[in-house]
Amino acid sequence: MIELSHVSLKYDRQTSALEDVNLSVDEGEFVFIVGPSGAGKSSIIKLLLREKVASSGIVTVDGVNVGRLKQRQIPQYRRKLGVVFQDFRLIPNMTVYDNVAFSMRVTDAANKVIRNRVPYILNLMGLEKKAKRFPHEISGGEQQRVALARALVNDPPIIIADEPTGNIDPELSYEIVELLEGINACGTTVLMVTHEHEMVHHFGGRIITIEHGTIARDEVLKKGGARG
Ligand code: ADP
Ligand code: ADP
Repeated sequence: MIELSHVSLKYDRQTSALEDVNLSVDEGEFVFIVGPSGAGKSSIIKLLLREKVASSGIVTVDGVNVGRLKQRQIPQYRRKLGVVFQDFRLIPNMTVYDNVAFSMRVTDAANKVIRNRVPYILNLMGLEKKAKRFPHEISGGEQQRVALARALVNDPPIIIADEPTGNIDPELSYEIVELLEGINACGTTVLMVTHEHEMVHHFGGRIITIEHGTIARDEVLKKGGARG
């Protein structure tokens, strides 16, 4: 589903953010990406979103050679990816309902489909009572669930979460990962970047450690942290 083959990324002559990275994620996998600040985690996400193009190597997502996309093909391509950012990026002057509905409106979804789908997703995220609130009127944990609802509403094959728990309480972080696990159980591929080692060990699964722009470890841990 996601493949990086001999991928390097240089921001300038001095800064090599990624160096000869080889990485393959199958459809339906749940993968944590961990590593220290500056290791190259965000650079991988930027390549997947086609915010950056690899200096060398090939990035393939759901059969698409991402680096080869033409500008006009990029919006359509990005619909494959539901993205949750650390800072939520909700639209402040839109209600919870409209924040989620907006993601569907930009894909030209029919109104009837939107009116069915948005309440369904808000319900799934436990946000049905918050539909008419504005982002500043709900808690951080709820804002994060709105961000997740928005990433999910178009039913993308892949969810990318970039430090989604960085701005919320630790207990709520676990809740978000549990929601992502539920989504993954329904077949969606999930890639989650985090620096919260304790949480990663709690959940276990496939953990890819990035250090100095390369893959330092790619391992499977059992729930609780034992090596599987
Ligand atoms: P992480 O997400 O793991 O913290 P990044 O992918 O953001 O790491 O950064 C990897 C390396 O690339 C770091 O050395 C960082 O300083 C550098 N870098 C990131 N973004 C830029 C940029 N826009 N211009 C120059 N260097 C950058
Ligand atoms: P959570 O534990 O779900 O993050 P909190 O304990 O922070 O929620 O808040 C409890 C309730 O108070 C929430 O249902 C939320 O809607 C409401 N609430 C929280 N912050 C605000 C706010 N700034 N304005 C209005 N309502 C709020």
